[in-house]
Amino acid sequence: MKDKLEGIILSLSPYGETGTLAQVLTKEAGYLSFVAKGSAKLSAKNRLMPLCRCRFLFDYKEGKTIFTLQQKELLKSYYSSDLKELSFKNVLTEMVSRLRPEETADVYEDLLFVLENYDKQKEALLGCFLTSRLLHYAGIAPYTDGCVVCGKSTVQGFSVQKGGFLCAEHVTEAERCDLPELRRIRYLEIAGKEKVLRIPEDYTLEDWDRYIDFLKRHADTRLRSYDFYRQL
Ligand SMILES: [Zn+2]
Repeated sequence: MKDKLEGIILSLSPYGETGTLAQVLTKEAGYLSFVAKGSAKLSAKNRLMPLCRCRFLFDYKEGKTIFTLQQKELLKSYYSSDLKELSFKNVLTEMVSRLRPEETADVYEDLLFVLENYDKQKEALLGCFLTSRLLHYAGIAPYTDGCVVCGKSTVQGFSVQKGGFLCAEHVTEAERCDLPELRRIRYLEIAGKEKVLRIPEDYTLEDWDRYIDFLKRHADTRLRSYDFYRQL
């Protein structure tokens, strides 16, 4: 049976002597791998490129996750020749590939949302947003309904190690945050796609660092692409 599925290419690697293996997050069937034979020699038009949203034509077989690609139709490319933008987008796809949450339809929509709404000025906000969503799907989101230790609703700080907000009694000096900082964390947890672009706060890369730290500590995931992005 021939199948056509829409997906976003997360990564590409060489396969055999002339082939390419594409890791793809599909809208309908989660994470799949496609082998494109001889695609290194193909013309630019047919070659697989990272960060593309395509419709893939292949023979689907239940239980299999790796397929020979028969054809692809490019829907949209999010690739950029700007190094900063490209490395930002590489962080997004590396996070998804490494965490591989099971809520694939939601992850697909979230990733697509960030790619579609990309704006140089909003990298910190969009990066924080996707990381926060992935932490949710992985079941390790920061606790922001009150103090993570005692549940008290008035909070004064945040700790990556303890996993959320902290009240006056449980906060240490190093964990203390100002009000806008606490607001930025809380807004992200409750905003969702519908409201995230309207959050009236300016997010910084230090905010994203905190989420990436969270990922490192609670999912044991270190992202090389993020280290690279932060060095630029
Ligand atoms: Zn407390």
